[in-house]
Amino acid sequence: MIVLKTPIVIAIDGHSSCGKSSFAKTIANELKYLFIDSGAMYRAVTLFAINNGLIANGKANVEELEKHLSSIDINFKQSNNFAYQTYLNGENVENDIRSMQVSANVSEISKIKAVRTRLVALQQKMGTRKAIVMDGRDIGTVVFPEAELKLFMTASLEVRAQRRFKELSDKGSTVLLTEVSDNLAQRDFIDENRAESPLKRADDAIILDNSHLTPEQQMEWIKKYLEKFQ
Ligand code: C5P
Repeated sequence: MIVLKTPIVIAIDGHSSCGKSSFAKTIANELKYLFIDSGAMYRAVTLFAINNGLIANGKANVEELEKHLSSIDINFKQSNNFAYQTYLNGENVENDIRSMQVSANVSEISKIKAVRTRLVALQQKMGTRKAIVMDGRDIGTVVFPEAELKLFMTASLEVRAQRRFKELSDKGSTVLLTEVSDNLAQRDFIDENRAESPLKRADDAIILDNSHLTPEQQMEWIKKYLEKFQ
């Protein structure tokens, strides 16, 4: 365990599937901090939209979705140190939100201003006491612009697609590698080019390209930045 002098906020942003959540989880575990995967929140809203017929052929019914936003409840439960489960209105949706159907629609839903306003407010509330590691696309730029430590993670598209493909295949999915790669490229494009809080590196974020790093090497790398706060 690493003990810091005072609690800090760690913001991790970056491209799709470059291991942000796994890294954030490991850091949070070392520090005994709260870990929040903000992407899971956007995925949960997307699942809600799919289940309620509020998105079809990639087009969201924004007006209707806005009406339902205040009744969408998203929670996280930790069953042990490394297993976080996402709950949507009381139901465990951890598996469902990782499906290709959700991945294919999530960037459309996360473009919607009202969705972002609601989720950002929830995320900021989770961080009021600091001692939090949150990963996403706008954490260092919009959610916690004052975060003490900001990382911007990336890796080559090939490496990211391979990792995600393995993850899905291990879970029994019959998805194709090209399908995974296309989805990542498309999400990155929409995320970087949307009007509302596009994915971009905060000026004060440290870049981490982990294409050729093991999780252990990543942890060694971050330790030298955490030392400043010890
Ligand atoms: O992190 P993950 O890949 O699960 O995020 C899924 C999608 O949610 C992203 O592609 C992006 O469209 C959206 N997202 C976002 N802002 C965040 C986190 C995720 O727009 N802070």
